[in-house]
Amino acid sequence: MIVKYPNNKLREISKPVDWNKATINLIKKLTSELESSKTGIGISAIQIGIPRRVAIIYTEKSERLPLLNPTIIEMEGEITSTEGCLSCPNEIVSIKRAQKINLAYTTKFGNSITRWFEGRDAIVIQHEIDHMNGKIILDYKDNS
Ligand SMILES: [Zn+2]
Repeated sequence: MIVKYPNNKLREISKPVDWNKATINLIKKLTSELESSKTGIGISAIQIGIPRRVAIIYTEKSERLPLLNPTIIEMEGEITSTEGCLSCPNEIVSIKRAQKINLAYTTKFGNSITRWFEGRDAIVIQHEIDHMNGKIILDYKDNS
């Protein structure tokens, strides 16, 4: 079940995870939620009510990418995106994002790495990190 606005759970700040069995199980749970959503291209654990810094995204190349403890360490450029959210059905919001990001995260295999993402992938990741910080797309509505 996806947690939907205005449920206050979406405002909770998610905590970092260790790489362990519980985290692997959370990745599996999130993956099946994302798959059954049909339209979603990213999901954060808080969207199924679990305040942990874990997200799954589908990249533009259709790679299914779990991100544990994602942290943006560099940003470049600016892009205006038009975003929807599984937690805010029927809402589309225009948001200014960084065009390129260098992301530090832990992989599903427990390796800590950094990787550059750009365009749609960078946008989806920024959206998911917002969720981990209790922020949703509706928060961007009035500052255009
Ligand atoms: Zn969302």
